[in-house]
Amino acid sequence: MRPILGCIADDFTGATDLASQLVSAGMRTLQTIGIPQAPLEAGVDAVVVALKSRTIPAREAIEQSIQALDWLREQGCEQFYFKYCSTFDSTPAGNIGPVTEALMEALGTDFTVACPALPANRRSVFNGYLFANGVPLNESGMQDHPLTPMTDANLVRVLNAQTTRNVGLIDYATLRQGDAAVTARIDALKADGIGIAICDAIDNDDLFMLARACRDLPLVTAGSGLALGLPANVAERLDHTQDAARLEPIAGREAVLSGSCSRATLAQIEHARQHMPSVHLDAQALDDDYQGVVDAALEYAEGNLDAGPVLIYASASPEEVRRAQQRLGVQQAGELVERAMAEIAAELVGRLGVRRLLVAGGETSGAVVTALDVQGLRIGESIDPGVPWTTTLGTEEPLALALKSGNFGAPDFMTKAWKLMP
Ligand code: ADP
Repeated sequence: MRPILGCIADDFTGATDLASQLVSAGMRTLQTIGIPQAPLEAGVDAVVVALKSRTIPAREAIEQSIQALDWLREQGCEQFYFKYCSTFDSTPAGNIGPVTEALMEALGTDFTVACPALPANRRSVFNGYLFANGVPLNESGMQDHPLTPMTDANLVRVLNAQTTRNVGLIDYATLRQGDAAVTARIDALKADGIGIAICDAIDNDDLFMLARACRDLPLVTAGSGLALGLPANVAERLDHTQDAARLEPIAGREAVLSGSCSRATLAQIEHARQHMPSVHLDAQALDDDYQGVVDAALEYAEGNLDAGPVLIYASASPEEVRRAQQRLGVQQAGELVERAMAEIAAELVGRLGVRRLLVAGGETSGAVVTALDVQGLRIGESIDPGVPWTTTLGTEEPLALALKSGNFGAPDFMTKAWKLMP
């Protein structure tokens, strides 16, 4: 069984978001971490390659995206999806425009769409203007983003500044006339020499319609919203006898690792501490006696893992984090904690028999996944929106892993997750 849809995502949590959408729409989906060295083994309908290319120099983003495309083509993928953020995070130098253009060139196609709309998260596009939470993008807070400030909500203008291709618009009035009108509009835009069309979309019905009109395009570019409609285009080739979210069951000990200091995570830890044994890693103590603190946490885990999940967290209040940062430096404090989390994860899995692991924090997850040598993730049921259970590929034995970026999840996330295990 060869995958049909090949996706390239410009960051890790964005990749998971896209993969979850595809699973919920009926495609069995694998997410890889970077570009795999080896061919794919899992029988899936879609593959999402997670890059970290959103804010790197455009030249490097192009290079990585093309490598990802080549690998996806080798796996047999037929249609390709370049996934970026629903707030169109980019600068005049890129990377959405340059990467789109390079992918078009590599695929030998002279037309594609660009649609960041994600109605579920209140991102919509109307007459080419992107709205976030009901206000134009440049009034949504995104104008102050540290890396990709978005100061213009007009995506036709924004994208035109990033690419040598001509950028046009498939507007809402056309969309309302149905997919035949959209297809006719695509033909007209192509005849006019337009290479990339920004697409309006306000609700999921618009995205379903747009997806139907994109059926024959070799490449689409979008946020995760368009993924809702694409599986329907190949419905007759999908295996409907199986739940796309079904994962192989994994037995073993359970642990939670948290390095996220977000408000949502702190509330989840508060809740979890009442239901499971927990141990706190203090950043300053780590600096004083790194091995002593790590060993003590592992010893505590070893004594408690038989009874159920154990929580190990460095997460701390803003004041405590500030104190640690003042003493160690912002970067150094973060790296020290990440190193400890990575080492603890490796010991929990390698020595203490943990096979089911929750990790809270984007950077923390990155460090843990690297330490465990995870190459890919089969995507399962979501615990909370944007945080699915997954099973790992590449590790010695498959693990059940859930990677939560800071602000995601309800307060009972760390306790209810176990009840939703594959
Ligand atoms: P989020 O997804 O919430 O942003 P991340 O894991 O991406 O979480 O980032 C949290 C950062 O804070 C990590 O670099 C982590 O190592 C660091 N950190 C965690 N606990 C502490 C602490 N007690 N003091 C200082 N830094 C910490």
